[in-house]
Formats: sequence, structure tokens, C-alpha cells
Amino acid sequence: MRAARYFGPHDFRLVEIDRPVPERGEVLLRVRAAGLCHSDLHIIFDELGGYPIPAPLTLGHEICGEAVERGEGVTGIEIGRRYVVFGPVGCGNCRWCRSGRDNLCTESRWIGIARDGGYAEYVTVPAQALVAVPDTVSDAEAAVATDAVLTSYHALLTVGRLQPGEGVAIIGVGGLGLNAVQIASAFGAVVLALDIQERKLELARQHGAAIALDSRQLDPQNPPLDRPITLVADFVGTDQTKLLAQQLVARGGRIVLVGLGSVGGPLLGLRAVADEIAVLGSFWGTRQELATVLDLIARGIIRPRVETHPLDEILTWVERLRAGEVESRVALVP
Ligand code: NAD
Ligand code: ZN
Ligand code: ZN
Repeated sequence: MRAARYFGPHDFRLVEIDRPVPERGEVLLRVRAAGLCHSDLHIIFDELGGYPIPAPLTLGHEICGEAVERGEGVTGIEIGRRYVVFGPVGCGNCRWCRSGRDNLCTESRWIGIARDGGYAEYVTVPAQALVAVPDTVSDAEAAVATDAVLTSYHALLTVGRLQPGEGVAIIGVGGLGLNAVQIASAFGAVVLALDIQERKLELARQHGAAIALDSRQLDPQNPPLDRPITLVADFVGTDQTKLLAQQLVARGGRIVLVGLGSVGGPLLGLRAVADEIAVLGSFWGTRQELATVLDLIARGIIRPRVETHPLDEILTWVERLRAGEVESRVALVP
């Protein structure tokens, strides 16, 4: 089968490999769509500060597929049905899994990051990673629900504890951030969207942002919102945006870090202390939240914007995403 594989830094290629066979407790999926995430770029272009990625590895951690074969011992999975894959699927036994924070499971092998993922015709995954897709949700929407929507939901509602009526700034309204704008607006926040591309700002306005501005033109001491910005979510994560987040957030406010644009970063210590600013990291989301976001999409409350292209064009789309030429999110179809 065709698969797009990471062989080491700057070496990502389409190759032919054997179709995987499901082991005990696993399911073989025929991939119907797999979303392209900026994290794939951080992996391919070695931007994670030496974080270990096994190689060779089939990337692709936003997967929607159809179950075609059950491994030994698998029950409750229907052949022919559509499922999405919960990427950080946990062991089910550790203290994180047992307390519902399965995204933090220390035994997990993240699908598409630590074990083979969805940029291929087929993928095998643990059965407990599968969540059924509602009929009204398309393959591509379901695929991007597993990260671009799930991560945004977790960051704003669970980690950020977003409150209706509060002023929220979203820095970076690309694949994740545009969903964050929709989620924050749907839950009653007043949203300031920031990006460096006018096209993305226009989309943010269409998807619920009260104001959308070039982040380089913003005076962080005088943000153009009618209320204090008590929650800032950074979906870029460069030193520049982390600094901006700290300048922009109101006294007593929260900053949620999602983007991995740089692995370190500046901390305005006096500001954090004197104004009691909470700086919070946010990682992916939980299996329970994935079911919730699929339901929000099925009900039309969130409409993830996603375009599909053939898997054979993946290298072109990697370059386009890197150049900022993807409108919102791309999903590859084998
Ligand atoms: P993307 O490329 O689709 O979007 C990034 C957006 O940021 C683009 O619209 C770009 O124009 C904008 N941008 C760049 N520099 C900016 C600046 N200085 N000010 C304002 N906007 C700026 O990327 P994505 O797929 O949405 O991913 C965003 C980040 O989140 C990546 O770093 C990715 O690795 C990370 N991520 C983290 C998690 C997590 O669990 N924490 C999960 C998925 C992705
Ligand atoms: Zn991702
Ligand atoms: Zn666990």
C-alpha cells in the first residue's frame, strides 16, 4: 500500500509498504481521510528541540476510516462502519486514564507520532482508540475533529475554563485557531482573532470573531475589545506570540499555550506574579471530549473548514502549509 513516511529530519516520502495486520486488541481501518497538522511540519523539519520521533514512521494523527478487520479479542467494533481515531489513546489503567485525563497517559503511543498513523491506505489501531462517526459528519470533518477541533475545545473549555461573556483572544487562526474562534463564540465569549494573514482574519470574522486584526498592528496595552481580555489562547507559540499573550492578557487572566512554534520562550515574571497571570499548557484532548466535539459538529454548532486532496499530493500540501498557503485545514484521501 501507499504510505507517507518520516525517515528522519527533512526526509518525508511516499513509499510502498505492506498492509499492516491487526494484532490482538487492534482493528484494521481503511483510511477515508487524514488531516494535515502543523505538528507534522514540526516533526518533519526537526523543530521540536530533539523530541524523539521513531523512524521510519507513517505520519498522520487525524484519522477517519472504515473498520475492515478485527484482531483477536476485539468486540463492539462493526465491520464497514466509520470511526475516528483518538490519537493519544491511553492504557486505561494508569492514574491519568482512571481520572479521565487520558490525554496525559504515560503509557500511550500516540497514533501518527509514536506509532504508524493515517497517511496510508490502511492503518491498525487499538480498538479502544475508535469512536463512531455520526452519519451527518463527513469523513474530512470527522478526521479534523480528532485534533484541530478537539485540541481547541480542550484548550478553551477544559484548560482555559472559558466563561460566557468574557473577552477571549485567539492568536493564530489557522487549522486549529479557526475552530477555536467558532468554539469560543458558540460558548458565548467575545472573540478577538489575531493572525498575520488578511485571508485568515477574514475567515475568522465570518466564523464569529467580533474583531480580527493583524497581530503586528495591535497595541497590546489597548486591545480593541469592549471588555478585558481575561483569556488568551496561543495557537502559534513562537517567542513573539508568547510575549504578546502576556502583554495582552488582563490582570488575573489566563494564558493557554497550544502552539509549538518554539520549545522555550520568554516569561514576564513580574507581570505573572504581580497581576496573577496563569500560564497553562494544553495537550490534545480526552476521548470523552472527542465524543463531545463530534456531537457539536453533527449539530452544526461547529463547522470545521476542511478541503480534501489526494494522498499522492501530500508533499505539495506539506510545502503549502509551511508557506502559509493553506486556507484552513487539508485532509488527504488515499
Ligand atoms: P496552521 O499553520 O494551520 O496555523 C497557524 C496560524 O498561525 C496561521 O494562520 C498563521 O498565519 C498564524 N501565525 C503565524 N505567525 C503568527 C503571528 N506571529 N501572529 C499571529 N498569527 C500567526 O497550524 P495549526 O495546524 O493550526 O497548528 C498550530 C500550532 O499548534 C502548531 O504549532 C502545532 O504544532 C500546534 N498543535 C498543538 C497541539 C497541542 O496539543 N498542544 C495540537 C495540535 C497542534
Ligand atoms: Zn496535530
Ligand atoms: Zn494510562
